[in-house]
Amino acid sequence: MTEYADLSRYEYWDSADEESPPAKTLNVGWLGDALPSVPEEPDPVLVSALVRLAQSHRVRQTRGSHGCRLCPTRDRGIRVETEESPTGSVHLGSAEIEVRGTDGTVYAAPTLIAHYVAAHHYRPPGAFVEAAVAAAEGAGPYHSLVPGPFPEMGTATDRHGDEHTHVGWLTPGMPFDTAAPDARLVDALRALWTTHWSWRSGGTYLCPVCLERAIPPDPAGFGMSAITLPRDRGAPFHVPWTIFHLIEAHRYRPPAEFTATVFAATGSLR
Ligand SMILES: [Zn+2]
Ligand SMILES: [Zn+2]
Repeated sequence: MTEYADLSRYEYWDSADEESPPAKTLNVGWLGDALPSVPEEPDPVLVSALVRLAQSHRVRQTRGSHGCRLCPTRDRGIRVETEESPTGSVHLGSAEIEVRGTDGTVYAAPTLIAHYVAAHHYRPPGAFVEAAVAAAEGAGPYHSLVPGPFPEMGTATDRHGDEHTHVGWLTPGMPFDTAAPDARLVDALRALWTTHWSWRSGGTYLCPVCLERAIPPDPAGFGMSAITLPRDRGAPFHVPWTIFHLIEAHRYRPPAEFTATVFAATGSLR
């Protein structure tokens, strides 16, 4: 992992990349093989906040994994146990944490920062500590999973008595079809999210496939939401916001009839 001074300008990811952070983002906790400051016994509140943020504010997940260069073994990534994760632990070393301070400054830290603070008594800059603790407090039910299971194309009646045909309500272990992501389908779905949304709710949810990654909010910026889309025959389709992440990150392919209905509803040419 590249080493950066605390509060230097963030540059680890190319700004042309889709997942790149806001322009004014500062580095925190990109340590090499030495601590940048005198070690200090960590505040347990900060340690648990960082472990929580490694799930709830996890961004820029990579396939590879970095270990800790301060540890003699230099393992490839570190796993810490936490009751707050559905898997019982969270992996550090393959993603970043992004938090925003009250003055709008964004801080990007490797998830390993939780280990640096807990094990090596690294002391992050005060402004970052403040932002991280505040963000963790507001993280909400970050360990929740998407409601379900609702089998693909299965129908169910919700508590308001409305019958729906479910698409994209994956839960862990549920098989799904895959295909290369279809950018036109994603665009069409984005458009439907402004015209056909049926409910919205706050909160951060874990992906049913990668489990350790919080699902990004829907295109309208809410934590979670769903659209209801009329169908030629049968109960209308009901689709969660997770479909964007499933398509783009996991090559999820929705049922063909649903895709055709989306294109018809948005007037897209097939
Ligand atoms: Zn270490
Ligand atoms: Zn995922």
